[in-house]
Amino acid sequence: MEKEMLFYNQKNVYDLMDGGDKKALTEYSCEYKRFLDYARTERLAVKYAVKMAEEHGFKPYEYGMEISPGDKLYVNNRGKSMMLAVIGKRPMSDGVNISASHIDAPRLDLKQVPLYEENDMAYLKTHYYGGIKKYQWVGIPLSLYGTAITESGESVDVAIGDSPDDPLFTITDLLPHLSADQYKKSLADGISGEGLNILFGSEPSGDEKDSDRVKLTVLSLLNEKYGLTETDFLSAEFEVVPAFETRDIGIDRGFLGGYGQDDRACAFAGLSAIIDLDIPDKTAVCVLADKEEIGSEGVTGMKSQVFEWFIEDLCNTQGTRLTTCFANSFCFSNDVCNGFDPNFPEVCEKRNSAKLNYGVAIMKYTGSRGKSGASDASAEIIGKLRKIFMDENVVWQMAELGKVDQGGGGTVAAYMAERNIDTVDAGMPLFSMHAPFEISSKADCYMTYKAISAVYKHC
Ligand code: MN
Ligand code: MN
Repeated sequence: MEKEMLFYNQKNVYDLMDGGDKKALTEYSCEYKRFLDYARTERLAVKYAVKMAEEHGFKPYEYGMEISPGDKLYVNNRGKSMMLAVIGKRPMSDGVNISASHIDAPRLDLKQVPLYEENDMAYLKTHYYGGIKKYQWVGIPLSLYGTAITESGESVDVAIGDSPDDPLFTITDLLPHLSADQYKKSLADGISGEGLNILFGSEPSGDEKDSDRVKLTVLSLLNEKYGLTETDFLSAEFEVVPAFETRDIGIDRGFLGGYGQDDRACAFAGLSAIIDLDIPDKTAVCVLADKEEIGSEGVTGMKSQVFEWFIEDLCNTQGTRLTTCFANSFCFSNDVCNGFDPNFPEVCEKRNSAKLNYGVAIMKYTGSRGKSGASDASAEIIGKLRKIFMDENVVWQMAELGKVDQGGGGTVAAYMAERNIDTVDAGMPLFSMHAPFEISSKADCYMTYKAISAVYKHC
C-alpha cells in the first residue's frame, strides 16, 4: 500500500493552492489589512462591519420583519457586537450555520478617574483588559480610542493616533543600567498592573505658583478638541492600544504583523464569508462577539441572550421553536490558536500543534488539564467537516493548544454548545498571541475565510 494513502500528512498551503487561490489570497490579505488597521477597538470593528455590510445590501433587522430567502440582515448590538444573517432557502427548523468570532482584544482600558500629575507630567491610570504579558506594553507607541457620554447626554468619540500627524502615548520602561532589582523579579512581576501608567503630557500652563499645571494643559486640550472635562471620564470607555500599523512580515511577505489579530483575523474571515455568500440552503449567521477576552460576559458577550433574541425572532416568523432550530444548527467557533513556534518548542507537542502556513486549524477541543472547560466536538461533526473541506479545497490541519498540562484556554465554543448547538473550534494559528504585535500567515487567514464559506454553503 502507498504511504500517501495510509499516512496522515500535514501539507503546506503553498503546495496545494492553484493560481486562482493565490490571486484571491493577495486580494483578501489587502482587505484584511485595511480592516485590522481601522478596527482597533470592538466599537471600531462594528463600525467597519456595518459599513461593509450596508455596502453589500445588508439591512438593519427590525423586530417582526417578514423574512424570505436571500434577505440580508444585521443587528448592531450597542455598537460593540454584531450579528449578521443571510436567510436561506430551507426553513429555520432545519437549523442555521453560524460563524462566531470575537472583536475585542487585549488592551489597556483607562480607569474611570485616570488623570493625575506627578513630577510635572500628566499620566493616565489604566486597568488592563484580557490576558496580557505586562512587560510587553511598556516602551512601545500607543494610541487612544474611546467614547465619552457628557452630562448633557452627548456621545463624544475620541481617536488619537490614527493620523501620522497625531501625537502618540507610551508607558516608560526602566533603563537597563538601573534594573538590577527588576531583573531579579519574575516576568509576571517585572511590570505591575498599577505600573501601567500612560505618559500623557508634559507642558505646564497657568500661574507659575499654581499646582497641577500640566493636568490643566491636557484637560484644556481635551476640552478644546472634544468638549470634555475630567468628570466626563467617569462616564467613558477609553481604550489604549498599540499604535503599530499592520505590515507584511518576512522578505517574501507571507506573514502579517499587527495588533488585535486575536480574533479580528477570524472576525474578518466570517464577515467576508457572509458578505460574499449567495442565497444559502440553510440560513447563515455571523456573530462578532465582544468580551471574549474576559469570559464572554455582559450584554455584548457570547453568553448574552441577545443571540437567542435574534434567532428566536427569525424562527417566530416561520412558526418554528428556537429549541428546534438550535438542535439542528452548527456553530463554527472561529478563534485563533497558537502556532508551533520553533523559538518555544518546549510548550508544544509537535504532532498535535498547528503550523503557520498549514491552513485553518480545527481544534476538536480546547480547555486545560483534562480538557477542562472544553466543548469537545464529536467525531461525527469533524467527519462532516472533513468531507466539506475536501470538496471545497480548504487546506486544514488538526491542532490543540500546547502540551497537556502546559496551560490552555477557551473560546466562545462552550457557550454555543451549551445552547444545544453542535460546535467546532477553528481558526488560524498565530505567533505572539496577545502580544501588541501578533503574527498570522496570509495563507491561513485566506483558508479560514474559505473554510467559513464552505460551512455556510454545505453544512
Ligand atoms: Mn480569541
Ligand atoms: Mn485571546
